[in-house]
Amino acid sequence: METQNNTALIDMPGFSIAQQQYLQGFFAGVAQRGVMPFAGQTAGGQIANSATSGAANQAAEEAEPMWFGTPLSELCREERWKQEENALDIWEKLVAHANEDKAPAPDDLFRFKFHGLFYVAPAQDSFMLRLRVPGGILSAHQLRGLAQMAADWGCGRADLTTRSNVQIREFQPKDIVRVLSKVQDLGMTSRGSGADNIRNITASPVTGIDPEELYDVAPLADALNRYILNSRDMYGLPRKFNVAFDGGGSISVLADTNDIGFVAVQVNDGHGIPAGVYFRVLLCGITGHKQFATDCGVLLHPDQTVAVAAAMIRVFAERGDRTDRKKARLKYLVDRWGTEKFVAKAEKLLAFPLIRVPASACEPRRPIDRAGHIGVHPQSQPGLHYIGVSVPVGRLPVDQMLAVAEIAESCGTGEVRLTVWQNLILPNIPTAKLEAAKAAILAAGLSFEAGTVMSGTVACTGNKGCRYAATDTKTHAVTLARLLDNRFNIVQPVNLHVTGCPHSCAQHYVGDIGLMGVKVGGEEGYQVVIGGGSDSDQSIARELIPAIKFSDLPPVMEQLFDSYTTRRHEEETFLGFTRRHSIAELQSFCAIKELV
Ligand code: SF4
Repeated sequence: METQNNTALIDMPGFSIAQQQYLQGFFAGVAQRGVMPFAGQTAGGQIANSATSGAANQAAEEAEPMWFGTPLSELCREERWKQEENALDIWEKLVAHANEDKAPAPDDLFRFKFHGLFYVAPAQDSFMLRLRVPGGILSAHQLRGLAQMAADWGCGRADLTTRSNVQIREFQPKDIVRVLSKVQDLGMTSRGSGADNIRNITASPVTGIDPEELYDVAPLADALNRYILNSRDMYGLPRKFNVAFDGGGSISVLADTNDIGFVAVQVNDGHGIPAGVYFRVLLCGITGHKQFATDCGVLLHPDQTVAVAAAMIRVFAERGDRTDRKKARLKYLVDRWGTEKFVAKAEKLLAFPLIRVPASACEPRRPIDRAGHIGVHPQSQPGLHYIGVSVPVGRLPVDQMLAVAEIAESCGTGEVRLTVWQNLILPNIPTAKLEAAKAAILAAGLSFEAGTVMSGTVACTGNKGCRYAATDTKTHAVTLARLLDNRFNIVQPVNLHVTGCPHSCAQHYVGDIGLMGVKVGGEEGYQVVIGGGSDSDQSIARELIPAIKFSDLPPVMEQLFDSYTTRRHEEETFLGFTRRHSIAELQSFCAIKELV
C-alpha cells in the first residue's frame, strides 16, 4: 500500500487505511516543515515502530487521530473545519460559488476568510474583501485598481483599517472570483487576511523617510509578508496573529498591541555586543483582553527578525490551544508555559542562538509625536516632505481614492502609505510641489489639518457591516469627534477609539477615550473607558461609565471637556488630565452619578 506521495505506509493495527494515510501524511508534513517531532514520530516524519518506542507506539495505536497534538474529538468547530479541508485548496469551490452566485455554508464561510472574503450576513447580504498591504505601503496604480473594483462591483468606497489595511464591501457572490483575480492582477493578495492567520504586517508609517527613526522597517515587513505567502504552514494557526515592526521613529505603530512587536532600539557600548541598532521583541499584546505585549528579554539583529517571527509562529501553531477559541491566542500558550520556555522552544527552531540582554541595557524609545501622522512634515531626505491626510474613520469613497492616487503620482513618487489611525500619508513631495499637493487634497474634500479629536479617531466597522456590532460605530465616532472639535479649541492630541463589541477591533482600551458598543434599554449605547494609551503612554483605560445611550453621551463628553479646558494645568494633555483624577472625580465633573 502506498500513499499518493509514494511513501510506504507502516502497518498500524487498529487504524483504517484512510486513518493510516491521514496520520502518516500529517506527520510527514509536520516533519517537512521542520517543526518539533511529536512523541512516537521520527525525524523523517514516520511513526516510530522500534522496541524502544514500543510504549509510545502502543499508545498511538490505541489513540484516536490527532490534529496538532489534539484528538479530533476535542477540536473546536473551526479546527474540525480546518482538518476536514485545507482552506488554501478551495479554488474550485470559490469558482463554483461564483458560478452559482451562492452564499457559503458556515464551514465554507470560515474557509473563504483564508482568501480575505468575508460573507457578512445578516449585517449585509454580501462579501467584504480584506486585502494585505504589508507595511501599509500602496502604489497609486494599486489604489486606482482598488477604486475600480469598489466602483464596478462593490459599495463605491474603501475602508482604511486599524492595521494599515484596506477593506472593500458589498461584493456579490457572483463577483468573488473576478475580485480575487483583479487583486492578483494588481500585484496584491488577500490571502490570509482573515480567519486563523497572520494578519496584515504593520510597520511605522513613515519608515524610511522619518528623520527621527532608528531603522527602516519597511523591508522587514515586506520580507515577513513574503515568507508567510510562501510557507503553507504559516496558515491555519490556532487563532489570528498580529505582527508589527516599529522603527523607533516619530509615529506609533502600536507595536505593544500585537502578538509580536519588534521595536528598534539603540544599544551603546558596554553590554558585550557591538553598539548599534537592534530590535527588542514584545510578546502577547491583546488589548481586548486588557494586556499589552511585554519584552521577552532578547535582542535581535535586524536580519534575524523574520526568522524569529517564523519560529515563534511555528511554536504557536504546534502548541497553541485548538479546543477552545477563547483560549487560543498566543497569550494563553505563553501564560501556560511562561515566556522563557516559549522563547526557548522557538530558539530550538533557529539556526542561531538568541542574545539575551535586558531592556534596561538599551536606550529608551524616542518620544512619539502623537499628531505626526497628520499635516506637513519634513522627511529625512532634504527637500522632501510627507503630508498626513485625515480620512474620518477610514472611509474613502472612490472619487477620493482616485484623487489620492493622482496626487501621489503628480506631486510625489506614486506611493501612498496607510496608518493604524485609519488615515493616509502622501510621501516624497518636493518643496516646489507642496502647495499644489495641499490644494489638490483640499479640492478632493480631504484635509491635512483635521480637528484634534477627528485626527485621532478610529472606529471599527460597526453594525452597518459587522454582525457582532451593537452600534453604528463609525457614524457615532464622527458625530462625537466633530462636536468636540467644533466646540473646544484643543491643541494637544486626543484619541477616540470606538468599537462595536468586546472583540475590540478599534482597541478601545488604548484610547484617551474608548467606547465599546452595548445595548442600553434596547437602544444603541456604549461603555465608556478613559485614559488609555500605548507605547510610552501605555495603560489600559479605566471604566468611566458602564453603559450609556449614545443619545445621552454628547452632553456628558462636553461637560468632561469643559472641565478639562477650565481645570487643566498649563500644557496638560487630556490624557494627563484624566489620569491625574480619580474616576469618581471625573464622574463628578460630568454629572455621571445621575446617569448610572
Ligand atoms: Fe465587528 Fe466587534 Fe470587530 Fe467591531 S469590534 S468590527 S463589531 S467584531
